[in-house]
Amino acid sequence: MEYIVLMSKSLTCHCKKVKLEVELGESLKNLIKCNCSICIRRGAVMAIVKSENIRLIKGKEILKTYQFHTKVAKHFFCSNCGIYTHHYQRRNPKMVGINVACLEGKEEINFKQYKVLDGQNHPLDKK
Ligand SMILES: [Zn+2]
Repeated sequence: MEYIVLMSKSLTCHCKKVKLEVELGESLKNLIKCNCSICIRRGAVMAIVKSENIRLIKGKEILKTYQFHTKVAKHFFCSNCGIYTHHYQRRNPKMVGINVACLEGKEEINFKQYKVLDGQNHPLDKK
């Protein structure tokens, strides 16, 4: 019999005005960075979770959205401290990338082990 591993954690920006609750499941085993124009600038190590597994607890009023190019992806950051917390992906808007450095308790996160997504050659940009 298999059990789904439930691992719920808080995710906060630096000033802690923004707080989310994330059901991580196995997502920390597949960390990524991305080389697209925005990800390469912010440099965050990310995990990917389903949108139903992330919930905003507080900070709705100061959480800002940034969009560019096709404006499908939604990038969220705290307008007080500037920290990127999460984003709804362009390749699948039902999936959410989270900034794992914002998770409370980082013991089981290996920041040196991640795959690099080739966002510079995004599949949705190919003609
Ligand atoms: Zn903040």
